[in-house]
Amino acid sequence: MNKKTVRDVDFGGKRVLMRVDFNVPMKNGAVADDTRIRAALPTIRYVLERGAGSLVLMSHLGDPRKDAGKAREKAEKAGKPFDEKAYIEAKHRMAPVVACFAGHLGREVKLAPACLGPETERMVAALPAGGVLMLENTRFHKEETSADAAERDRMARALAAYGDVFVNDAFGSAHRDHASTASVGKFFRENVAGFLMEKEIDYLSRALENPDRPYAAVLGGAKIGDKLKVVENLLTKVDTLIVGGGMAYTFLKAQGHAIGQSLCDAGKIPYAGRMLAEARKRGVNFLLPVDNVAADKFDANAETRAVGVEIPEGWMALDIGPKTTELYAQAIRGARMVVWNGPMGCFEMPKFADGTMGVCRAIAASGAVSIVGGGDSVAAVNKSGLAARFTHISTGGGASLEFLEGKQLPGIAALSPRE
Ligand code: AMP
Repeated sequence: MNKKTVRDVDFGGKRVLMRVDFNVPMKNGAVADDTRIRAALPTIRYVLERGAGSLVLMSHLGDPRKDAGKAREKAEKAGKPFDEKAYIEAKHRMAPVVACFAGHLGREVKLAPACLGPETERMVAALPAGGVLMLENTRFHKEETSADAAERDRMARALAAYGDVFVNDAFGSAHRDHASTASVGKFFRENVAGFLMEKEIDYLSRALENPDRPYAAVLGGAKIGDKLKVVENLLTKVDTLIVGGGMAYTFLKAQGHAIGQSLCDAGKIPYAGRMLAEARKRGVNFLLPVDNVAADKFDANAETRAVGVEIPEGWMALDIGPKTTELYAQAIRGARMVVWNGPMGCFEMPKFADGTMGVCRAIAASGAVSIVGGGDSVAAVNKSGLAARFTHISTGGGASLEFLEGKQLPGIAALSPRE
């Protein structure tokens, strides 16, 4: 990696400001999945063991304004009262995250009432040697996500006063051009990646620049629109492109197949056709479902029917069929590198989980260098109990997708280059 990392810094006595991605799923006011918190621990421990004077951590947790807007709409539809302040207090405060994190770290972690303001400044200044403080949700400040760079800079400059060195270990937020992810870096002379950020960049860059061959990518999920650029970029890199999940049916439609009521993005059919032609031109083996599990409705208890490539009118394909799973598994077995993003069907419903689980087992058994990204595929890997057999499980869904699109991520671009 051509960016500086924590290994390039002498932390002795220095105050450290660190951006982490503690944007974890919450349930009933507690952390429901602490993967992201655990993933940041090596960097945090390293900095403290190397004698950092103090450590100030910051992260967002959800998107308070957007989440509250959605919840308000839902409540209004149901004719229920909605208290925005109470909603945000319950869902977006860092206290439960700090409790979980402090438990893992095994030492006291203080929580500031905000990112900015005199009380927070006092708490930062009062930190004892080796003291750790977490700032409240960065997105409580509208400057964090402001479209106006000068506003973001104002917040970033204030944050920068909390440290002598900036460490960015928030890969999951690296695709965001926000005050605490990108702008803040320019106010530091030392602005470096943590271990998690480094590992993510190393594996994803390898997938784009220096893949082991044969190289297969497996793409799935509902929305073809989210993955257009990934398909386009990966077509120039891979030997085999395997497509399943809801997005596959727009491609099948482009080939002239009947897809019944399966997901289809009509506006993207010409694009899908162009991508298929591009794959042929490049000699990329483009695999699409040859059979499917169809349902009479989108429901866990739907009536199901095994169908071939053609999907009858009135039916929707919610999973790839067994022949397709075997076809995909065979292609995966022959690969030395596999990148996977997106489920092969509606795997949340047991009747439509076989394709995703079959692909997951095939990747785990392949012995290939395997990189998984995206919340749903990562959830499937965890559910399979095979996580230890994967080479790299990305902590950033959106960030890993944008990386695979070939985009420069603002949070990475901002890091100090290695001279
Ligand atoms: P995405 O967020 O685009 O990665 O999509 C993930 C979602 O796609 C999951 O919730 C799946 O249930 C859904 N999905 C996968 N396959 C299908 C399908 N054939 N039809 C409808 N939804 C699907």
